[in-house]
Amino acid sequence: MSAAANLAAVEAEIASACKDARRERSEVTLIAVSKTFEAEAIRPVLSAGQRVFGENRVQEAKGKWPVLVDEYPGTELHLIGPLQSNKAKDAIALFDAIHSVDRDSLCEALSKVLPQAGRKVELFVQINTGEEPQKAGIAPQDADAFLVACRERWGLTISGLMCIPPVDEAPAPHFALSAKIAKRNGLVKLSMGMSADFATAIQFGATHVRVGSAIFGHR
Ligand SMILES: *Cc1c(COP(=O)(O)O)cnc(C)c1O
Repeated sequence: MSAAANLAAVEAEIASACKDARRERSEVTLIAVSKTFEAEAIRPVLSAGQRVFGENRVQEAKGKWPVLVDEYPGTELHLIGPLQSNKAKDAIALFDAIHSVDRDSLCEALSKVLPQAGRKVELFVQINTGEEPQKAGIAPQDADAFLVACRERWGLTISGLMCIPPVDEAPAPHFALSAKIAKRNGLVKLSMGMSADFATAIQFGATHVRVGSAIFGHR
């Protein structure tokens, strides 16, 4: 199937998951994750009307997106991968949202570059719900204190939380944990759910689903 046909199928599944969860379709933003795909593979998805995209590397996104954003006004870019502090300025210049705020040094870098950027960039704190040593993110038990530090120490406005459940576990408990941490901290946005589990994530309150291979095919 073409990427445009895949997009339509994903859209239909999102609509049905929203209906099942008694949520409005407008409560869920589909982020089409285009990492590793070239502009030629992305254009058909833009032509089909999709305007929100996710990338996991600043350098890669800088190489392919400025031209596409010019061609398709209204395009929104979300950084979903780890961000090095020395790339914070580049990231803020290109992306509309960063889903991977996960440490003090990055908060410090963001607090310096954001005020000069002259544009709004939405921030999500990544929670390592599975407490996996190889994975980025704040441990669940440290989340409340980190969110206070983001606000009070670094002056950052955090919109929501992001999580990536362990590949070998049922995702639902991880989505539930993220939703619980968000709720008790007064955060309304939840970035969770990928190709394999976005319908479940919607059931647990996802406001942003990050879908790559189900749209673009295997990487
Ligand atoms: C690659 C990636 C996705 C998309 O994964 P698929 O399984 O291809 O849908 C979502 N979130 C993050 C953080 C990713 O790196």
